Amino acid sequence: MITHNLGYPRIGAARELKKASEAFWNEKITMTELQKAGEMIRLKNWQSQKEAGIDIIPSNDFSFYDHVLDMSFMLGAIPVRFRCLRNYLSDDMEFYFAMARGYQKDGFDIRPMEMTKWFDTNYHYIVPEFRKSQGFEFLGRKAVEEFIEAKKAGFITKPVLVGPLSYVLLGKCESEEFDRLDILPALLPVYLDILYALVENGAEWIQLDEPFLATSLGEKAKELYNLVYKEIRSEFPQLKILLTTYFDSIGDNIDLAVNLPVDAIHLDLVRAPEQLEIFLQKDTGRQMISLGVVDGRNVWKNDFALSLRLIHEAVEKAGEQRIMIAPSCSLIHSPIDLDLENDEEALPLVIRDWLAFARQKLDEVESLREIASQRILNVVSDNLKLHLNQESINRRKTSALIHNEDVKNRLSFIPEIEKTGRSSFSSRKIRQQKSLNLPLFPTTTIGSFPQTAEVRSWRSKLKKGELDAREYDMLIGEEIRKAVKWQEEAGFDVLVHGEFERNDMVEYFGELLEGFAFTRNGWIQSYGSRYVKPPVIYGDVWRSSPMTIGWITYAQSLTAKPVKGMLTGPVTILQWSFVRDDQPRAETCFQIALAIRDEVLDLEKAGIRVIQIDEPALREGLPIRNEKKKAYLEAAVRAFRLSYAGVRDETQVHTHMCYSEFSDIMEHIAALDADVLTIECSRSNMELLDVFGKFNYPNDIGPGIYDIHSPRIPSIPELESLISKAAAVIPESQLWINPDCGLKTRNWDEVKQSLSNMLSAVKKVKQKRAVEAR
Ligand code: GLN
Ligand code: ZN
Repeated sequence: MITHNLGYPRIGAARELKKASEAFWNEKITMTELQKAGEMIRLKNWQSQKEAGIDIIPSNDFSFYDHVLDMSFMLGAIPVRFRCLRNYLSDDMEFYFAMARGYQKDGFDIRPMEMTKWFDTNYHYIVPEFRKSQGFEFLGRKAVEEFIEAKKAGFITKPVLVGPLSYVLLGKCESEEFDRLDILPALLPVYLDILYALVENGAEWIQLDEPFLATSLGEKAKELYNLVYKEIRSEFPQLKILLTTYFDSIGDNIDLAVNLPVDAIHLDLVRAPEQLEIFLQKDTGRQMISLGVVDGRNVWKNDFALSLRLIHEAVEKAGEQRIMIAPSCSLIHSPIDLDLENDEEALPLVIRDWLAFARQKLDEVESLREIASQRILNVVSDNLKLHLNQESINRRKTSALIHNEDVKNRLSFIPEIEKTGRSSFSSRKIRQQKSLNLPLFPTTTIGSFPQTAEVRSWRSKLKKGELDAREYDMLIGEEIRKAVKWQEEAGFDVLVHGEFERNDMVEYFGELLEGFAFTRNGWIQSYGSRYVKPPVIYGDVWRSSPMTIGWITYAQSLTAKPVKGMLTGPVTILQWSFVRDDQPRAETCFQIALAIRDEVLDLEKAGIRVIQIDEPALREGLPIRNEKKKAYLEAAVRAFRLSYAGVRDETQVHTHMCYSEFSDIMEHIAALDADVLTIECSRSNMELLDVFGKFNYPNDIGPGIYDIHSPRIPSIPELESLISKAAAVIPESQLWINPDCGLKTRNWDEVKQSLSNMLSAVKKVKQKRAVEAR
């Protein structure tokens, strides 16, 4: 039995990568210093994996921004608009960051590549852009350099690449319409070059990630899988190829998978344990089977008894020599080290006992091998590690912390609550207009204003006791007052309070709700240098007291304009937390929905006329297999509607989503029946708004026209053209104007300039309209 790992967190246990890359972007450190920081992280990662005893350790799982962008760079898949920088920026890294973040300097103004969610995770990758006549070249040598670096440090690693099929399927067509798969013939030779360079330098194993094998594939893609892997095999008869799938079952691709000429196939047995039996039935005996038994996507301690059952089944049918043991997927979705969690207030010891982070997960992989081997050899009847593990698993199962009978009983009232429906959107709109009196193209923002270092320092001082609660509240209150005044003067129609009191849109609510625990260092990369620290939902969830009323009513008291009550929706709280795995996710989601509903009704009672319930994560929770999508969407819609069930027609409900890919879920988006939906759009140049037009989306919609994920300031003409583009597909009476997302990651200068440009653009469009009407 061999143990291996698919990928280790790349951000550093103390967030070294974030610190270094942001310092580099702000010109505080040099390229060499940045490179050094990367090197340190990689070295530490290889060492801890080695120490854990893992046989085959990955390389090229590190990335300065994103591993898909790394592939694009290595393959020379550079979108046309960046070509002009090629000679201008002599340094590869600067060029690479320009693709990720856009380039607005020295007279250049180039928008960044699009970013989208990595399957059903909260990780974002940079979407490859292809043209029909795309040429590729072996441009970057990152995978090779990292392999050599590891080798010098004494590690013969298994380089990880996104497999050719998945790479192509992750991409999109730049401007023209064509089948992405048609570029494979041009792409494959460059893949072969990369592999050749790796083999030449001594690589024995290579990991090709093909997560698309766990999705529903068309015939053409299946055929190409065969062709491409045959080609790779014939070029490299000796190279050991591990093909990985994760996040769901291989399902109907099973016949394809077992016949591919690769040396090993990885299965995610956490998400889809049932696929093992089917796989073993179809097994040809030619491939090794990598059992992903340790959950790479969640924080719970592995139940050894369950994993051993799977390992046993595989060993029995396939023989010990053909078995590999591994985490279910790359560990970039796990926090790094549970040993760093020493704050008992955030994470009580009782709960800590139930958890395992990346480092601990590798230990689990090793322990599982040890116990399984001993069983095979029949040397030990009762392994101590197994014993301790089972004790801890049982302590969790029977813990009184987890269960609250009232909360469980409340779930049975859901059908009754759901009967308290609102009138149709058209009659609601009339009532809301009476109360809010909004102009054509109402303007608003998504919620947060810059979370400056200063604001964050107040929170950390409060924690350390250097500020008392009253002083902290005064400072936050003043920040809110300034933000409200600025919005009022700038001319916004619907204001926000700015979310200065929130550390994070999920953590903030988690801390105020029952059933949540927290980590101090459990950071996960979301994109680039943006990391999140998901709370841990360990028990039944309920609201013991109001959570936002104080700050929202204070903000509302400062202005006659409506201020939005700002809440995070149940699906997003669920999706961005580590969720208990001892009951169906939907059940936990409904518990959260009822808690949010308590808050919504209190906000309404307190006189708040507009309430936004953010659901930026609704889409990312979509299962990657078609047959599971419907049930998920139905539950998600139900939970969202439940969270505002019972509000009056006059209260305007907004929701916000951080993506623009709606084509396959339009029906469900409409079923949410929010009065106003704000979405992301600008990075795709409004392309994806068409779907709303074609669907005749009935309610109001605010396509984001200012891309807040980049430091770039959009010009007035550019924003005007985006508004016109939006107005061409969405009826004027339904159109709102707003940025893409919250502004917390930006600084005030950027925000003020960009938002002022946005408001000027709205004015100009309205003026033009008035002239045309005359
Ligand atoms: N209201 C939140 C904010 O503005 C929404 C953030 C998000 O969509 N991720 O920050
Ligand atoms: Zn957003």
